[in-house]
Amino acid sequence: MEFSSSLLENAVSEFAKLPGIGKKTALRLVLHLLKQDPGNVETFGETILKMRREIKFCERCFNVADAATCSICANPLRKQELICVVENIRDVIAIESTQQFSGVYHVLGGIISPLDGVGPEQLTIEPLIQRIQQEKTEELLFALNPNIQGDTTIYYIQKKLQSAPVKITTIARGIAFGGELEYADEMTLARSITNRLPVERYVQH
Ligand SMILES: [Zn+2]
Repeated sequence: MEFSSSLLENAVSEFAKLPGIGKKTALRLVLHLLKQDPGNVETFGETILKMRREIKFCERCFNVADAATCSICANPLRKQELICVVENIRDVIAIESTQQFSGVYHVLGGIISPLDGVGPEQLTIEPLIQRIQQEKTEELLFALNPNIQGDTTIYYIQKKLQSAPVKITTIARGIAFGGELEYADEMTLARSITNRLPVERYVQH
């Protein structure tokens, strides 16, 4: 691609760094911005910059937050004794969209996957164990992707909690094994939460 302006070229190459955006799409987006009022483009740029600079992670559940505690943890209407364990922030957003879950979350920040070099120590598992002991959690609901890594992670955490008086459940497998939680439709995900099962009936070892 040949450009007569390096300013344009730089902008295109920045957009092309985003996932799923090729050079052609990047050019279309940049040309769109070029047609906008400079004030609108300024708001666009500042919003991205502000998000990156000021976003925080909840001290309790590791979800994204505007303050030290996220709005879900701070909501007195949410059942604080029911913790839903998820892999990442996208899963929190997917479950919140179902409007079927009234508890709080714990974002692991990944999943145990030895082949990818991800062990328990890279995840927020230790803070989760401490949290359960301190908060007198009644139920831990696992909403992890139904695959080997998900099962391994559940098994590991369950072992660590053997002596804790906490009920451990997992979302029902309305979602295909090997499927991705974030791509499930809202109905399937909602039903999976309503029909959750005890972990003993789910992970066979
Ligand atoms: Zn939180």
